[in-house]
Amino acid sequence: MSSTVHLINPSRAAFGTAVITPRWLYVLAGATPAAFGDPNIVDETLEQSSPSVFQSGDVVGIGIHTGNALRGYEVGRSARERGAHVVFGGIHASLYPEEAHELGGAHSVVTGDGEGVWPKVLADCVAGTPARLYDGGKVRREGFVSARWDLLPRDRYMWASVQTLRGCPKHCSFCSVWRTDGQEPRTRAADAVVKEVVELRRRGFRFIALADDNFYPVTLNDLAMAGRRADPARLTELKAIREERFDLMRRLAQLPNDMIFFTQITMEAAEDVEFLAAMKRARIAGALVGVESVSAEGLKSIYKDFNLAGDALTDRLRTFREHGIHVLGSFIFGLSTDRADTFDATLELAKRADLTFAQFVTLTPFPGTVDFAKWEASLAGHEPRVLDIPITRHWLIPDGHRPKLYTPHPTMSAEEIRQKTQYVWDRFYSIGEVWRRSGCVRSIRARLAFVLVSKLYRQMYANTGISTDSARVSRASRWARWMAKPCRRLFAARPMPDLAVPSP
Ligand code: SF4
Repeated sequence: MSSTVHLINPSRAAFGTAVITPRWLYVLAGATPAAFGDPNIVDETLEQSSPSVFQSGDVVGIGIHTGNALRGYEVGRSARERGAHVVFGGIHASLYPEEAHELGGAHSVVTGDGEGVWPKVLADCVAGTPARLYDGGKVRREGFVSARWDLLPRDRYMWASVQTLRGCPKHCSFCSVWRTDGQEPRTRAADAVVKEVVELRRRGFRFIALADDNFYPVTLNDLAMAGRRADPARLTELKAIREERFDLMRRLAQLPNDMIFFTQITMEAAEDVEFLAAMKRARIAGALVGVESVSAEGLKSIYKDFNLAGDALTDRLRTFREHGIHVLGSFIFGLSTDRADTFDATLELAKRADLTFAQFVTLTPFPGTVDFAKWEASLAGHEPRVLDIPITRHWLIPDGHRPKLYTPHPTMSAEEIRQKTQYVWDRFYSIGEVWRRSGCVRSIRARLAFVLVSKLYRQMYANTGISTDSARVSRASRWARWMAKPCRRLFAARPMPDLAVPSP
């Protein structure tokens, strides 16, 4: 077959080296029938694609989320101009398929999970009969496709990524995961997960992100509630999901002991010490925990009142550390309940709770969320415009013109929130604080590595995201680009080509 398949992960910021492998590129490569040959994979967080590689008759698959949609549309139009078939997928394309047609030069859009329907999309493109829309639906257990890690460049990423489940049973108002991936956790067979992990370790990756929506899908509270139902079916189902998690962790624990995993989890896991102990044995040494707000009112406003506030919150977060699990705490600023003193209170909590890393984002209404739907409805007919683009389509506003905050706050200006957020980043990642936190590792070499990685993280995610000062943004990008390479070397391990898959 003469058509080349290109898979593009769009991005405007390229650092030459990236932290986590965009898994979807390698999964779709795995779903590409052999007759098409190996896809040309381009991750623009490493470097930008060149339109000259697209030839007439090629198929160009572009995966977009809201943050990179505009760049994705640019790539799509240039590929179409050169005669290629353009196919969009990803969360944003699933929510706005018509937009990808209008602005991105799409021939086709795939909504939902892409891997199941991808072979048909390719066959239709080659036959000259691409459909306007494909519904990929929600792939279940047997439909998960393993990634083509043989196509992964070894020297560009710090962490590889493997998925063990999709979906989240919660319903946080600022998050689209539960609405797009569903609330029913769809688990992947432990065998398939372990095989992928072993393949990555053979290739020299010992740091692996378990890229799940929520690694802890069944809480003790869920079990207690199901136990009170007259019909035992739900309890049996939840127990089976929980047992599978333990089974997976037992399998991960059999892998070489230099391996380190990282995942995303809800705070409720801290009350489940059996689960935390299993995580530790499996070397799941870190987790992103969405703390979001330090106040009970703030949590209520985002439908996340299953989280704790105040001293109970500090204790719960410390429980992770006491069980050997480092926390990357994620906080949101700009909630209507926030006040000027919320910023310092958050900073203090982040320090007191022994967080190893933290991120501080400003509230942004993302499509697909409850918050977005409310916000859009509240502005219907009188949306403010920037460059004639309604702000309810903020992702279409070019960088540099995009407002940093979208929802008016009852007591603070947008600029005040932005400045205070920047201040919290600066304080949490000050050299003194980072050095103090580096005490979580032993040798001087490891502590220096910790400092380097902390600083890199801050440059990549704070200064390039919330800063309005373009000099600061470009300085941060240059710095991150320069630092990323030596940082990546800290994560690389000697390949273990003969590593066997442990038996169940
Ligand atoms: S924020 Fe986390 S816990 Fe809440 S719905 Fe999204 S994935 Fe689930």
